[in-house]
Amino acid sequence: MFRTHTCGELRINSVNNEVTLAGWVQTIRKFGAITFVDLRDRYGITQLLFGEELNQQLDTNPLGREFVLQATGTVHERSNKNSNIPTGDVEIIVTSFKILNKSAVPPFTIQDDTDGGDDIRMKYRFLDLRRNAVKKNLELRYAVNRATRNYLHQQGFMDIETPFLIKSTPEGARDFVVPSRMNGGQFYALPQSPQTFKQLLMVSGYDRYYQIVKCFRDEDLRADRQPEFTQIDCEMAFVEQEDILNMFEGLIKSIFKEVKGIDYTEKVPRMTWEDAMWNYGNDKPDIRFDWKLLNLKKPSSVYTNKKDSSELITGASFGVFDNAETVVAIAVPGCSDYSRKQTDELIEWVKRPQIGMGGLAFIKCNKDGTYKSSMDKFFNEEKLKAIAAACNASTGDLVLILAGAEERTRKAISELRLEMAERLGYRKKEEFKLVWVLDFPLFEYAEDENRWVARHHPFTSPKPSDIEIMISNDPAIENAAEYLKHPYANIKANAYDMVLNGNEIGGGSIRIFQRELQEKMFAALGMTKEESLHKFSFLLGAFEYGAPPHGGIAFGFDRLCAILGGSESIRDFIAFPKNNAGRDVMLDAPSTIDEKQLVELQIRSTAK
Ligand code: ASP
Repeated sequence: MFRTHTCGELRINSVNNEVTLAGWVQTIRKFGAITFVDLRDRYGITQLLFGEELNQQLDTNPLGREFVLQATGTVHERSNKNSNIPTGDVEIIVTSFKILNKSAVPPFTIQDDTDGGDDIRMKYRFLDLRRNAVKKNLELRYAVNRATRNYLHQQGFMDIETPFLIKSTPEGARDFVVPSRMNGGQFYALPQSPQTFKQLLMVSGYDRYYQIVKCFRDEDLRADRQPEFTQIDCEMAFVEQEDILNMFEGLIKSIFKEVKGIDYTEKVPRMTWEDAMWNYGNDKPDIRFDWKLLNLKKPSSVYTNKKDSSELITGASFGVFDNAETVVAIAVPGCSDYSRKQTDELIEWVKRPQIGMGGLAFIKCNKDGTYKSSMDKFFNEEKLKAIAAACNASTGDLVLILAGAEERTRKAISELRLEMAERLGYRKKEEFKLVWVLDFPLFEYAEDENRWVARHHPFTSPKPSDIEIMISNDPAIENAAEYLKHPYANIKANAYDMVLNGNEIGGGSIRIFQRELQEKMFAALGMTKEESLHKFSFLLGAFEYGAPPHGGIAFGFDRLCAILGGSESIRDFIAFPKNNAGRDVMLDAPSTIDEKQLVELQIRSTAK
């Protein structure tokens, strides 16, 4: 070994011991005849003191930042202690040293608050990873990994690897493909998830499977996505939805306990998809703060089981509301004293292209008991008061109202809800609130393709009570504009999402396990019999050999780590991430390949 101790290990009780350390030179401070060097490794920093004699050696062999150094010496108590680091009571009076390797001057400082911008840190990620701030994140990631494995192992799960070179798995994204040299003109797809394999493992009898596994999805990288990411992928046989919810609520609670020391004892609340959309405008509500929406007007064919409060706005002859498909409001606490400038700024905020609304109406519930509104011309004080009351607004609150097309308006109000909560400090990083969202619609309608698509994936089972609707109705739609009136729009899935602080951290479903129903599902999605056989004959075949009832879930491992680490960015928790254009700037990948390779693969590139 090059060392007797790590750079984070020595304390006052080692004084007078002779030790050898090895690590990287963090800082060099020369004071006349002596030099102090902070030596760093993964475990910490220890101060080295080079006395007069060695100092002369340093003159001929100067040290530089990030040099790899081995130093032997005696542990001394420091006269000038540093309470900021665990080794701060001691220093090593160096008796001999060896430069194990030199370093070029690093392009940014290897410190918590580095001077390096994102691009340069990614290009030199191997240096960035030396920084404590990044190391902490990878340590947290490893702790989440360990906690996951411990829990699942205790519950009898088996980690079974599944292949990467496969055939397409439909998770709704584009596949990454790999050309096969040995089978010219043919391609493998990289798995978007191990979905079909884990189902086959259930058929094979491995009734509790898991894997912490890479998945690949060729998507446009909207904010904070990675083309390759990691899932905690799980499947169980002989279970119902309730069993899965309990098992994986247990997993997340044990991760909280082991990684964050948090006893999350209360039962995770459950909410139907319809309630989530109705109350929060969103199927992944952040419930750290319970600001629910007031639905002042709903479109006729959505939320068939919900009653809106349209009586509060009818008869006011306010065209903006009367002509809108949807009108929704939210009460924001303590903002009734917003100035004209502040309300104007909010109006501009909702008009930004990302939000896309035409404007915003508001009611100020003033502290003196009066009500002031941007719609004073149409609503008298009594009516304003009634809307505010229905919105659960208290004195001092500000009611914000949006009106427009259903989907856009609901998305906008949920964004506005998050934005206001963020501004007012309701989204606390160290507060964790989980919720299960259940009973998703089984299908979504893809207007551009004029067909139904699976909301989760095509292997998700309808609710048992809705199977009959699926079997007895023709999926075809006469009038695309009225797809919500088709019976398929109301079929609910046996699917569930786990939501943490407004992020979907996991999702899964009870699966279809009978061939006939799976075939019906493929047909409902517009696949011909030939197509479904071409793509999934292995699965349909397997279902003929005693497939047990089964279901599962997958958690987004990177996202879970980021939330537990109090960060918005999953990249911070991945050792070698890609940038927003899907590039690895360190490797400079993707890149072109040799003509020879292309010939071998029987591929002709048309790119310039
Ligand atoms: N394969 C699904 C996904 O990646 C998860 C599941 O259904 O288990 O979202």
